[in-house]
Amino acid sequence: MPASDATPDLILIIDDNADTIRLLSSMLKDQGQILFAINGEMGIQLAQRQQPALILLDVEMTGMNGYEVCSALKTDPATKDCAVIIVTAHTGMECEIKALEAGAVDFISKPFNPPVVRARVQTHLRLQQQTAIMRQLANRDGLTGLFNRRYLDEVLAREFERHRRQQLPLTLALIDVDHFKAYNDHYGHPQGDVCLQRVASAISTIARRPAELVARYGGEEFVVVLPHTDAPSAAKYGDWLCDLVRDLTIAHDFSATAPTVTISVGLVSVVPSVHCSVQQLLTAADQALYQAKSAGRNRAFATTWP
Ligand code: GH3
Ligand code: MG
Ligand code: MG
Ligand code: MG
Repeated sequence: MPASDATPDLILIIDDNADTIRLLSSMLKDQGQILFAINGEMGIQLAQRQQPALILLDVEMTGMNGYEVCSALKTDPATKDCAVIIVTAHTGMECEIKALEAGAVDFISKPFNPPVVRARVQTHLRLQQQTAIMRQLANRDGLTGLFNRRYLDEVLAREFERHRRQQLPLTLALIDVDHFKAYNDHYGHPQGDVCLQRVASAISTIARRPAELVARYGGEEFVVVLPHTDAPSAAKYGDWLCDLVRDLTIAHDFSATAPTVTISVGLVSVVPSVHCSVQQLLTAADQALYQAKSAGRNRAFATTWP
């Protein structure tokens, strides 16, 4: 699950002066959807819930001041990707430096010059949209569109830690296409690519609950992360994955296992403790996969760990 996907044209104005909120809202109303908060604490809560692309943040406020609010937003994973523009009547280098140090991307001074305000907001909304696209691409595998290894590593570390804290079972499924070298050799690499795309698309339908994740692990191998899943459920997921690929009925005349493309799946369920690591979990999944392969392929093997 992405850490935070900002809502593309959502602008949050945080200011303790209703007139300023009104003025800015009317200037920006055709540039995006506008939300407002009248103090820093409320602004932070709203930002956490709504994930605005851009925040216009007043400096002089009772309670938390703008710099403090900005620092808080930038250190919270839920809001760190929101772009913050500091708004203040103070001018001068020192204020600008403080704003940038707090993590703001820009600085607007009062009294407002409407064309300048609009231009800056436009620029940062566009940058935010581009960044969102880049972030998406960086997390995806080019061939299959599934999440990539880099993103899997990130999510797995996070989920492992969360399950360790909450003492809940986490299941990892490692999937490998059977006799895929023979498929490539006989049908050709481009056809092999199409096959991988179809397999990827079939297994991705298994992710239905929040935080379930399907990723390409590399080559013809895929990983599914199944939060809050114990061994008995893991076995069912394993059979389901095999069914999904069998049901594609992609002809494979050179498989020693079946007339169609099949997969083998190794699943490991663990309630993480301080004594185990993500790396050990992956190794255990690899061993389970080996068991599924040696037992004849086209099947799942589920185990608990340690
Ligand atoms: P097993 O049943 O034991 O898993 O045998 P296998 O042939 O599937 O395993 P092996 O590891 O020998 O072969 C994997 C093949 O996957 C070899 C490689 O050329 C192919 N492959 C890896 N990545 C890609 C890809 O992106 N596209 C295509 N077309 N082939 C790929
Ligand atoms: Mg103020
Ligand atoms: Mg392999
Ligand atoms: Mg294989």
